[in-house]
Amino acid sequence: MKGGELMKHTFFTVGPSQIYPTVPKYVKEAVERNILSLSHRSGEFKNMFSDVVENIKQLLSIPSDYEIVFLPSATEAMERTLQGVVEKESFHIVHGAFGKKFKEIADDLGKKASVYQLDITGFADEIEIPKSVELVCLTQSDTSNGSWISPEFIYQIKKKYPEKLIAIDIVSSVPIVNLDFSKVDIAFFSVQKGFGLPAGLGVMVISPDAYKKAQQVKDKGYSIGSYHSLLSLIQQAKKFQTPETPNVLGIFLFKQVLRDMLEKGIGTIRKQADIKASMLYEFFDQHQEYKPVITHPDFRSSTVIVVEARDTETIHTRLSKEGMKVGKGYGSKEDDHIRIANFPSHTVDQIEMLIQALS
Ligand SMILES: *Cc1c(COP(=O)(O)O)cnc(C)c1O
Repeated sequence: MKGGELMKHTFFTVGPSQIYPTVPKYVKEAVERNILSLSHRSGEFKNMFSDVVENIKQLLSIPSDYEIVFLPSATEAMERTLQGVVEKESFHIVHGAFGKKFKEIADDLGKKASVYQLDITGFADEIEIPKSVELVCLTQSDTSNGSWISPEFIYQIKKKYPEKLIAIDIVSSVPIVNLDFSKVDIAFFSVQKGFGLPAGLGVMVISPDAYKKAQQVKDKGYSIGSYHSLLSLIQQAKKFQTPETPNVLGIFLFKQVLRDMLEKGIGTIRKQADIKASMLYEFFDQHQEYKPVITHPDFRSSTVIVVEARDTETIHTRLSKEGMKVGKGYGSKEDDHIRIANFPSHTVDQIEMLIQALS
């Protein structure tokens, strides 16, 4: 594909997605300032790391005693979480393919993992979690089908089971979801979705309780991983360092975009996301040819909108001619669904253009 041809498209794909508008400027800045040659053991790098921690905590209101560590991906964060804080047993509340993947990683690590399949067509029953479960795993917005669980749902679980740790995948909902991090123990995401950055950087938010648990798991003789164990990641992060040579460019770009988002204000960013989500759902709900996969308003993701459609190939071709790309369906739904990202990179005007093109 020719570079020029790609440039013209607006990507409503769910990840990687449209880059945040200031990213090209910062890539240029990284080259000009020689960030690409910067040692990860230098003072400049430590300052950068410390800025990211400060900015992400401010943007998302993360408690000051929580740790922030970097990884290459969110998928690795699933493994780090399960290996780090689970001796024997995890519990997975699943409503899509990403929740299922989280559970499969527990299986692969030899943990006893049980699944509660959440009914996203109606009201959830009271969830009973066995006493022996150490960690409850959730996916806030499941990117495979556009389902979403409310923060209140998550807080109720923590309230009912305060002794259990809660881990939550917020990959496709951050920074839009307004989550009280003091009520979860581990949250993770990668930056190629809601932050509109190039792929290759994952972020994990870790509570003091989760840190303590990782120490216990290790002291009892379980393997919690090697160079990237939760403990080694946290001990390095306390010095604004990483165990290995990290994605320095990714961390630099993240720092810059965080600063832009702080300047814009998280309230404004979230309000715009709500407006754009309503535009999309209103359009699809009224249109004969499209049917949103999630019908119950409580379970509809505001950041990933998945709709059933006929002849999706024609839709992709038509949109491409108009300079837009939407995502295909996930897995077996590749040709039956289209998936649309509603991230901070997408403007109201762009969403309007997309709706026009889909009409
Ligand atoms: C994309 C995605 C992941 C995987 O992220 P990677 O950075 O590719 O590992 C995990 N969970 C959800 C909900 C996602 O949307």
